[in-house]
Amino acid sequence: SNYFKCLNNLIMAAKIIDGKLIASKVKEQVSIAVSDLNQKSIFPGLATIIVGNDAASSIYVKNKRKSAKEVGIESFQYELSENIQEKELLELINELNLNSDVDGILVQLPLPKHINSDLIIDSIDVNKDVDGFNVINAGKTFIGRDSVIPCTPLGCLLMLKSIKIELKGKNAVIIGRSNIVGKPMAQLLLNEDCTVTIVHSKTFNIQALVKEADIVVAAVGSANLVKGSWIKKGAVVIDVGINRLKVEDKNILVGDINFNEVKDIASYITPVPGGVGPMTIACLLMNTVFQCAKRNNVSIPNNLKKLF
Ligand code: NAP
Repeated sequence: SNYFKCLNNLIMAAKIIDGKLIASKVKEQVSIAVSDLNQKSIFPGLATIIVGNDAASSIYVKNKRKSAKEVGIESFQYELSENIQEKELLELINELNLNSDVDGILVQLPLPKHINSDLIIDSIDVNKDVDGFNVINAGKTFIGRDSVIPCTPLGCLLMLKSIKIELKGKNAVIIGRSNIVGKPMAQLLLNEDCTVTIVHSKTFNIQALVKEADIVVAAVGSANLVKGSWIKKGAVVIDVGINRLKVEDKNILVGDINFNEVKDIASYITPVPGGVGPMTIACLLMNTVFQCAKRNNVSIPNNLKKLF
């Protein structure tokens, strides 16, 4: 019976897309690209700004800084008080815009309510935008031109490419329509010739739409929202969600996908943690190197180009 159990598992269980592993490979390539730039006396630098002390944001920024250092990107770090005025933050960004050692500027979102995030994001030099949130880069992504692609959707796309399935013509359903994940994700998959549907909190009968999908990307922020019964057999499932739950006095992280239910129905699935999260960071480092190369008028290192 063990034999059949094994066989059954082989047939039924989805393959896990190991974001941590793929991210480490991307980081290795970024690190090679950084060394190449260093040979030309070019030293990529990334400025990270965090305002206030939201626990989750602090962890994200810490990981971004640590990873930047690991691949040889110089890290410029700013921790600002929750009460900082919008004007002061704008002044800092302006300073960094003018600082030639800085190739990328990342402002960790969300910002406190008294600060207008749009204004802040728009103040980042388009050539130092590494999140791809600047209106010019977002517009370029929208019309399919060469641009800085937001890190999380780019990470999702690289994970989809890593399993080497044909994307052309596939039904993709994105759950969530935020400017930082859902919308750019839809655009990237459209660029890959998928047929794309975006569903959101006002959509009627989400389950029926998801059930038609060959590719599902969930970016909602609702723990275990997507059940096994929503998923078409053999679909590829990417889980962007990061939700903190308390189970038996322990804090755990779960995604928007009910992993245990979906893993036996999907053909591929990304875990949380260890899926999209590490890929987001790897793509941030890659975007920093892209911006650095562009600003210094050298071509994008070939090894990074090959990732696409
Ligand atoms: P967001 O701005 O809050 O957007 C959430 C989207 O989900 C909205 O479009 C919302 O619809 C939709 N939604 C909410 N409840 C829904 C429901 N019951 N059914 C269908 N759609 C629903 O969030 P976000 O910034 O895109 O982030 C989404 C999740 O991804 C969060 O858990 C976040 O922590 C995580 N995240 C992870 C990474 C990473 O690196 N792994 C990066 C970014 C975000 P409406 O537009 O109608 O309100």
